[in-house]
Amino acid sequence: MRREEGFPFSFSCKRSGNCCAIPGGFVRVTSDEAAAIARLLGLELAAFYARYVQPDGVTLKDGFGNRCVFLNDGQQASCSIYEARPQKCRQWPFWPELRTDEALRQLVLRTCPGIEPDER
Ligand code: SF4
Repeated sequence: MRREEGFPFSFSCKRSGNCCAIPGGFVRVTSDEAAAIARLLGLELAAFYARYVQPDGVTLKDGFGNRCVFLNDGQQASCSIYEARPQKCRQWPFWPELRTDEALRQLVLRTCPGIEPDER
């Protein structure tokens, strides 16, 4: 069970994969993250960008049904690039904006079965 200061919940991943399939969600990669993922996949960097990154140069393409292109769906969902997943994915669900954005926090609470809100 993980907990971080300033967040009104604790977290223990239940492998639902829901965080990687939020409708309208997206995943951005820095150039360093893109290089690490390309290395993990054994791809040239240009090939990685052509295959997995949108024309804006920073947003991963969607996979099936708006899921992240790297999500291995199933009863126990997993990330196919787990060792090289972007920082934002590593931080889930302790995103700084969740401290202040109540609407986003409610969406995240409905999305992720691994989040346990604190009692009020
Ligand atoms: S990169 Fe991995 S952890 Fe991040 S959204 Fe995609 S499948 Fe999920």
